[in-house]
This record gives sequence, C-alpha cells and structure tokens, in this order.
Amino acid sequence: MKMIIKAMIPFNIPTRIGVEEDAVAQLLNNEPLRLCGGGNYNQKCQNFLKRELGFQNVLMTTSCTHALEMAMILCNVGFGDEVIVPSYTFPSTANAVVLRGATPVFVDIEPETFNINCDLIEKAINERTKAIMVVHYGGVSCDFLKLKAISDRHNIFIVEDAAQAIGAKYKDQYLGGLGDLAAFSFHDTKNITCGEGGALVVNNKKLVDRAEIIHEKGTNRKQFFAGKIEKYSWVDMGSSYLLSELNAAFLYIQLENLHSVNEKRLKIWNTYYSRLKDIKGIKVPFIPTYATHNAHLFYIKLDSIKLRSSLMSFLEEKEIQSYFHYVPLHTSPAGLKYGKFHGEDNYTTQESDKILRLPLYTAQSIEDCHKICDEIIKWSQHAL
Ligand SMILES: *Cc1c(COP(=O)(O)O)cnc(C)c1O
Repeated sequence: MKMIIKAMIPFNIPTRIGVEEDAVAQLLNNEPLRLCGGGNYNQKCQNFLKRELGFQNVLMTTSCTHALEMAMILCNVGFGDEVIVPSYTFPSTANAVVLRGATPVFVDIEPETFNINCDLIEKAINERTKAIMVVHYGGVSCDFLKLKAISDRHNIFIVEDAAQAIGAKYKDQYLGGLGDLAAFSFHDTKNITCGEGGALVVNNKKLVDRAEIIHEKGTNRKQFFAGKIEKYSWVDMGSSYLLSELNAAFLYIQLENLHSVNEKRLKIWNTYYSRLKDIKGIKVPFIPTYATHNAHLFYIKLDSIKLRSSLMSFLEEKEIQSYFHYVPLHTSPAGLKYGKFHGEDNYTTQESDKILRLPLYTAQSIEDCHKICDEIIKWSQHAL
C-alpha cells in the first residue's frame, strides 16, 4: 500500500528560533549545576522584559494561569468578593477569582475587538468589587484610558491578562505596563514560548514586596539570599510559582528574538488582512487607533454559525486547520456554578458564534497564507 502524505497546513506550530539548545546546553554545563527557579536565565528573562518593554518589576512564573492567581492574592480578593472579567476569555482568567472563593462578574464585550466593553464596567461595580481583569484579545489593547478613569474613581485594581499580548502596545506603551498587575503567557500557543511559562509584572510599587513572598511559597527567601535577613521563614500565603531554569534558558533565546518573531507574524497577518478585507460576507479584525497589535492570531467573522461550520468543513477538506475560539464562560458549567453575568449578553455569545481563526504561526510561509486565502475566496463565491 502506498502512503499518502498529506500537505496539511496546521493551525499552530510553536515558535522556534533554532538556537534555544545552545542556551540549554550552556546551562547544563554550568558548575555547580542549578536548575531550579531564580537562577541566571530567570534573571536574564526578567531583565529583558524590564529593559525592552519598560517594566519596573517582573517575576518569572510557571504559567500565566499562576501569574493571574498571584495577582488575585495581591489584590486581596477573598471570600464573597467580586472581580469583573469578560466572559469571552480562557478559563484561567475566571479560575483565578474562583480559587479565592470570590465571584467572577462577567461583562459583555465590544463586538469589534472581542475585548471587554469598558462603558459597561462601571455599572457592574459595587462595594464588593476588588479588581477589574481585562484581556487584550489577540494582542489588541483594550480601551485603557476609559478603564483607568473607572479604576481611579472607584479605587479598584486593574489586572491585565496580557497572555496574548507580548510586544503589543496601547498608544506608545507596551501592554503589561498599564495595570497594577499584568500576566504574560509563554505557552506553546503564544508568540514567544518555552512550552509552559509565564510572567507577572508588578507595576504598583505597593505590591512588590508581597509579590516576591507569594512567588517564593510564602517565604522571605528572596530577602534572605539578598543578605537582608539572617534566616528565612514562612511569612505569608504563597505557592510554587518559580519558572524552572531549563525553561528560562529556552525562553531567553526566544525573548531576545521577540521583535523579529512579531514582525514575521505581522507579515502573515497583513497578507490575510489585505486579501480578505473586501470579500463580501467576511469581516476582518478591527484594530482601534490606540492599539498596535502583535499578530498573535488572525480571525475572520462570518454572519452565522452555519456559515462558519460550512467554511470550517470546506477548509478541512482542503487540509487546512481552522478553529473557533472561546465558549463564553458564563454559559459553561463552571461559569454557571461560580460566576454571574452583569447586564445583557448582547455580543459575547453572538460574536463567539461567528469567529473563525485561521492558521498563524511564526514559521508559516506567505505562500501557505495565500493558499488559504484562495480557498476562502473560492468558498465565498459559491456559499455567500
Ligand atoms: C493562554 C492564555 C492563558 C493561560 O496561559 P498559560 O500560560 O497556559 O497558563 C490565560 N489567559 C488567556 C487570555 C490566554 O490566552
């Protein structure tokens, strides 16, 4: 029997620079060997994020999920409290709230960006509201000026779930540097990766000391190693949030290439955009003037779930992987149990039914991108 090799275009392939192994090998040759968190490569990653993106305080973490959990501890979110979040997000955003015994209060999105609608946030605030967590969907900034005004008026923390947003900006400021706290992800599916990893950015100076303690399993170990105290002890709650030095070595090489990785992705994004923007019945992403995105993902919107399914199956036949995205959290089993929706769900469910994400990864060829566009245009000519 003859093997049929399918020329499938995958949805994602993790970013590879090609020399990550050099850093990993260098680490393994070090004497004495030290692989746990807090080592040189952890330091290098932190310094890169501070220097290149202008952050004051950064802690490398095991994941973005864990950085969000740390953020909720730092905002003093406790039993009976509330935190405002979009429903259109990954479960980690809401889990961080639920793990504190608090309630995620879901607010509708703007249909144009899939980001939380900042005009609806204020009505959802009450005396129990401790924080607002925003997601910069696809690395497109939320409307930060509006958000900041609300947080100032009510004295409520802002946490950025910047999982997808490394290298993207609000006006001339890098995302992750805006809120009191921000969380990045270096998961396989993100622009920059080490498999599993993350970072917590602490912009609010009042939270820095406590963040370092929570990061180190609730101990003042960091002060001890800095020679500031004679012995270390358990001083607060915390957990095991340090990034392994093996992951940090891999990650550092990727971070050093952040700008070229994002540029490559932007070329693919722009190709999709220019080829699909004038196709009747297909909507391309909207980028507000205040946002400079990082080409984390590319999506199109169809007019109905039926049309989306039709295009998905058509692409599948052509060996092209495409996916929809989040099932709104407020309609999912845990969301129904732990959360509540404030106001009307005008757009969250409706828009989530329309979205179709196309392949976008750093090593993707422009040729493949054109091939995908050709097929979508072919489909549109008979289906729309
Ligand atoms: C990827 C992602 C996360 C989770 O990141 P991990 O590093 O895998 O924990 C959280 N929030 C959003 C919006 C994400 O896209």
